[in-house]
Amino acid sequence: MNMRCRIPGCCGGASRWGAYCNAHKIRDRRHGHPEQETITKAILAPYVARVRKRIDKNDTSELWGLLEQKWSDTLADCRCYLSDVVDQGVPLTKTKRGACGELLKVAQCVAPKDVVETALAMYLLAEMEPRRFKSDRAFLFQLVRRVRGLAEVNAGEWYDHRSGRTKRVYRDLSPRTTLVMAEMLGDVFGCVGLTIARKEVEEIEGRSWMKQRTHAALEALV
Ligand SMILES: [Zn+2]
Repeated sequence: MNMRCRIPGCCGGASRWGAYCNAHKIRDRRHGHPEQETITKAILAPYVARVRKRIDKNDTSELWGLLEQKWSDTLADCRCYLSDVVDQGVPLTKTKRGACGELLKVAQCVAPKDVVETALAMYLLAEMEPRRFKSDRAFLFQLVRRVRGLAEVNAGEWYDHRSGRTKRVYRDLSPRTTLVMAEMLGDVFGCVGLTIARKEVEEIEGRSWMKQRTHAALEALV
């Protein structure tokens, strides 16, 4: 008997032991959920703009400097982990090593400020457009994807003759490595990201409430 992919509406056949067809299996590995859409730079852009505005509005706050410091502390930890393995033979899982290496790669060619803005923007997006994320896991995968995407501009490019387009080399990470990276990013940016996201939503709700009241007051005029 042929097994069908478990995603409703998908006509793909699943392997004997798998739940999904090949395409959905790959999406699950790359995006954290078989039906998770790719959060592109373009989707995130308005939220990066919102974060920038918030930072500008509070340019004397020490929060941003503290965040950059936390990010740089995390990178120092990563370097420590990696050199411990080499120098003292301290066992470190392959997953953790991979995650540390990837974060350092990002840091090598991306300014801390850009990492801060992109990571915080992801939390804003999740708060304001929660339907874009199929699960918490899918959110974490997209967080890692967008932060890694910042380094992509400096990654190698190759020309695909078949499609006639220039493509970027983007190495897929194992789902476990992705989750460890997400955990480290979440430790640095999660709390501030969620708090700012809530503030943004409160502001928007506050504005629409004002609008409603103004409208009601106008209607009540005699
Ligand atoms: Zn499928």
